[in-house]
Amino acid sequence: MTIPFAHGTSLPSRNGVIVAHHGVAVEVLFVDGAREPVRVKRRSGHVVGDDVNVLGEMLERLPRRTELRRRDATGGIHLVGANLDVLGVVISSSPAPPPGFVDRAIVAARVACLRPFLVVSKCDLEGAEEFVSVVDSVYGGSLLLFSLSAATGERLDPLREFFADGHRGAFVGASGVGKSSLLNALCPEIDLRVGALNDYNGKGCHTTTVSTLHQLPAGGELVDTPGFQDFGLVEISARELSEHFPGFEPASDQRCRFRDCRHRSEPGCAVISLVAQGRIPEERYATYRELLRDIEAGESGHRRGGGNG
Ligand code: GDP
Ligand code: ZN
Repeated sequence: MTIPFAHGTSLPSRNGVIVAHHGVAVEVLFVDGAREPVRVKRRSGHVVGDDVNVLGEMLERLPRRTELRRRDATGGIHLVGANLDVLGVVISSSPAPPPGFVDRAIVAARVACLRPFLVVSKCDLEGAEEFVSVVDSVYGGSLLLFSLSAATGERLDPLREFFADGHRGAFVGASGVGKSSLLNALCPEIDLRVGALNDYNGKGCHTTTVSTLHQLPAGGELVDTPGFQDFGLVEISARELSEHFPGFEPASDQRCRFRDCRHRSEPGCAVISLVAQGRIPEERYATYRELLRDIEAGESGHRRGGGNG
């Protein structure tokens, strides 16, 4: 699209994607490869991953396909990236994931229309093989699983190839599982870019706490979201859990009688009948019931507390 100028020339509009945000300016990577700052209003609501159309000084945000949110320590919700299509849930044998973490993360990703995948890091550690085979037996039927070591570089290529298929993703995982090491192994520019961004607005280190979007050398894109840790994902509801629980996929093409079925004791429940047939493992179902109880207890606690959530 072009608009005519008074003196007869036209100003071309350019498409790009926001790769960093500095409060009063965003950094845009244009389709022609140029990377330039564009001024925006302070509370514009733009985030990395937003597709934009820039016309002179004017920046227009295009509609989003997905939004990734996180919760901070005080419960505040922040949008950390737009238009991601995959979310890597990173776990290790040491430290082991907190109970329920993997299932909640998978459900939260699915609710946000992101395809979750699992990364078991630190495969060089003793006992890691056993850990991987347990994880694989539980989740292998539900989602892609990568087992790798950022420390030794072992088995990183399958994950590189996965991103190279055109995926834009981020990682979530408890502190200490190896997310930073993995980001650096996949994308050596991340450290350098953080330094460059700080130079850009001359405000020192504050900008390191915001998300940045990186093009991976082998293809694909990664959003680096500092502080996006173990409980960084937004809470899930009991209803979301029952709709997206990993392991219940065999029930997805068979309907429960009730649309809002919680798969507990309802008549005509597809999940319960598949558990009875052995097509959904008993242990998966038991884990589901425990999580459901936790989440429902939290939900009724909020209601009693008079909150608005
Ligand atoms: P983060 O908190 O999730 O970002 O984790 P880090 O990347 O900071 O790593 C936490 C610790 O695990 C550090 O001491 C790393 O050196 C170590 N670590 C990370 N990746 C690996 C790995 O592949 N193998 C081993 N053995 N240690 C690792
Ligand atoms: Zn059901």
